[in-house]
Amino acid sequence: GKVIVNDQMMERSQHRIDMEDRGYQFGDGVYEVIRVYNGDLFGVEEHIDRFFESAGKIKLKILFTKESLKENLNALIKENELQLGIVYMQLTRGVSPRAHVFPDEHTTPVLTAYTKEMPIPKLQMANGVSAIVTPDIRWLRCDIKSLNLLPNILAKEEAKEQGCYEAIFHRDGIVTEGASSNIFIVAKGNMITHPESHFILNGITRQMIFKLCKENKLSLVEKPFNVDDLMNADEVFLSSTVSEVMPIVKIDNKTIGNGQPGPHTKQLQALFQKYIQKQARI
Ligand code: PLP
Repeated sequence: GKVIVNDQMMERSQHRIDMEDRGYQFGDGVYEVIRVYNGDLFGVEEHIDRFFESAGKIKLKILFTKESLKENLNALIKENELQLGIVYMQLTRGVSPRAHVFPDEHTTPVLTAYTKEMPIPKLQMANGVSAIVTPDIRWLRCDIKSLNLLPNILAKEEAKEQGCYEAIFHRDGIVTEGASSNIFIVAKGNMITHPESHFILNGITRQMIFKLCKENKLSLVEKPFNVDDLMNADEVFLSSTVSEVMPIVKIDNKTIGNGQPGPHTKQLQALFQKYIQKQARI
């Protein structure tokens, strides 16, 4: 299929990444993953806003408008005839002789984007998945969707080795988020998730869940909770662009609740499904 490089659409094989691209050498850049349902970008405004915010936080100047980026992404999914999947996009600080300091002001950032078919993980959403708990060894600006993902990669690999779907991070005993998701617990009928801060990425799915809870008068609070609260919760679920609302029914080999997706999780899954259908006009 076609890809986007800066403001051009081209065959993937037509583009080469320079070995001194700062994204390649330093992970000096930011990215976004956007779901495509029914041939439509889901939450595209929110994702593009966060993309620009992440770029701003690392002082990366964007030379195009949000509107033109959206147009280009829409053209890409149309060209590639993508119905159900994702768009991945990233922006690096460009190509320049290797040096930690920023390159000179004439260096242009490099935007790349491609599409990928991706089914909805229906079986796992119905049955729930397992997770491990692991120390959060990341830096102190996890609010930036940075290309630097080594700690996330290591945690995810550890989860996979233990047959698990996700790794749940804790910082000094406080649960922050998943390696590629936000984490929620249900305790005494209340849904709880880590407050928005530099310790987590404020997920777009997380923000949508807040909106849905408000609209439907469901109790969801931002409050730190610890690993004990997690292990003893009635329900646990994660949220992400790719996994939507995903029940977690086993953590570090301990069963959560009765080992089945709980009522709060299932209610949110249903609300989220309705929201997708409305947005994507399914
Ligand atoms: N937290 C981290 C570390 C992530 O990588 C992601 C996204 O994959 C999320 C949270 C969830 O964010 P979103 O709902 O915007 O996909």
